[in-house]
Amino acid sequence: MRESPTAQLARPRRILALVGLVLIGGMWAYTGWSILDLHRHAWDRIRHDADTLLGTSERAVARDIELYDLSLRMVAERVNALALEEVNPEVRHLALFDRVSQAKGYGSIMVLDTRGRAFLDSGSVIPRRLDGSDRLYFTTHRDNPDAGLFIGKPWVTRISHREMIPLSRRFTYADGSFAGVIVGAIDLDYFREMFARLRGNPDFSVTLQFADGSAVVGGRTTASGTGAAEAPGFSRAGPVGAWPLRIVVAISQEAIRQAWLPRVPPILGIALILTMGVLAALALLNRELTLRVVAEGRALAAQAEFERLASIDALTGLGNRRRFEAVLATCAEPSRREGWALLLLDADSFKRFNDRYGHLAGDRALERVGGVLAEQARRCEGSAFRFGGEEFALLAACDEEQALALADRIRAAVAGLALPHADHPGGVLTLSVGLAHGSRLREGPAKAWLKAADDALYEAKREGRDRTCLARPDRVDPAAEALLPRAVALS
Ligand code: GH3
Ligand code: MG
Ligand code: MG
Repeated sequence: MRESPTAQLARPRRILALVGLVLIGGMWAYTGWSILDLHRHAWDRIRHDADTLLGTSERAVARDIELYDLSLRMVAERVNALALEEVNPEVRHLALFDRVSQAKGYGSIMVLDTRGRAFLDSGSVIPRRLDGSDRLYFTTHRDNPDAGLFIGKPWVTRISHREMIPLSRRFTYADGSFAGVIVGAIDLDYFREMFARLRGNPDFSVTLQFADGSAVVGGRTTASGTGAAEAPGFSRAGPVGAWPLRIVVAISQEAIRQAWLPRVPPILGIALILTMGVLAALALLNRELTLRVVAEGRALAAQAEFERLASIDALTGLGNRRRFEAVLATCAEPSRREGWALLLLDADSFKRFNDRYGHLAGDRALERVGGVLAEQARRCEGSAFRFGGEEFALLAACDEEQALALADRIRAAVAGLALPHADHPGGVLTLSVGLAHGSRLREGPAKAWLKAADDALYEAKREGRDRTCLARPDRVDPAAEALLPRAVALS
């Protein structure tokens, strides 16, 4: 039996759902992976940029300090070497400071005596007034012969009023005793400008700090306007040379987010559009599938109806000749034939019935005979057919005796219809029956069985009609066979 459309659709729908799940699941897995990859790439770039910025900043600051320290050392050497009092001030100034680096951001170098007073100044032949006796850059060298290069905390200079960090070195007399301090300064704006220049990504902040964490040059200007107060999302720090300084490169959480987050919505949007596309395609496929299954079901139902109609006799509603042959072929199978009786039934003198009452009355009479046969067949669980014209056939699963009784019942029922037939003995329409039981024709083709029944019918006609004759194949008269009025063709 054919499954219902819902049952037929269950499997393809499951496959569609699975395909949808795989497609959409795969797409979203790829989307998730893409977003993670985006995040990873943004972080890789930030780490790389931070490392590069840190390296270049460290090198640049270290180079400046070294360069400036070179000038301090040179001045320290020369101060000792020259007999200062005996030389003309201009010449002395030239001799001391001609090689001093004048680069932008490098402050003047002052030479302080043992009391902290300036007596030489790279910025002026007549030294400007400066008392550094209370400053750490002075006291450190005075109290500690091994201080080396001292780098002080930022302060606003007394001479230029600019924010600078002092760099100082001790110089000594020939006997090694403290002779004074050589001090200079580097402008903090110089570092600020340098960091701004080095910083490719404006979201990075670059801070120059002392090792204790106090800022030398701090803060930053950012594209987003957020200040240094914001907690950094990521930072890197590294020392500047061997001095107690370090560079800290940092970037805010917001800037990190901005590096990857704005690219997420378009990716999600594309994934969403694709998902909707897949869902729409699946819905369309499902609809097509449903329509096809429904159409197939209708076509099959129409075909079944057509086949049913093709096997039914329109006048009586009984199975037609085609149907009869199919059923006969089944019943005639050697293993089954023994249990089946075949009855051929023919309306007696029907031509005359037509001639007297007309064809329409003849049709009505055939209809009623058909009704009797259908009823009798139903009762014995057999099958009745219109064989052709005014002839009928009936197959019943019974023995010969029961079949004879059945034939009698049918004839009695037809006579009982009391269809007037003035040109027939008895005055009513009757039937003649030829009965062939399968048990007598165990072998041979179905048509031999049919012929035996037909022979019996012929015999009933010959013997006067309105009766039943039983086929006894062993008694079949070859002469009668030759006289058989119809050709029985079976496929
Ligand atoms: P018999 O007793 O020997 O069978 O004689 P009969 O007249 O019945 O047999 P015959 O073969 O000479 O004539 C059969 C008649 O059945 C001829 C035909 O007009 C009639 N007939 C066949 N089919 C139909 C039908 O569908 N409707 C009507 N009204 N008559 C039919
Ligand atoms: Mg006939
Ligand atoms: Mg007849």
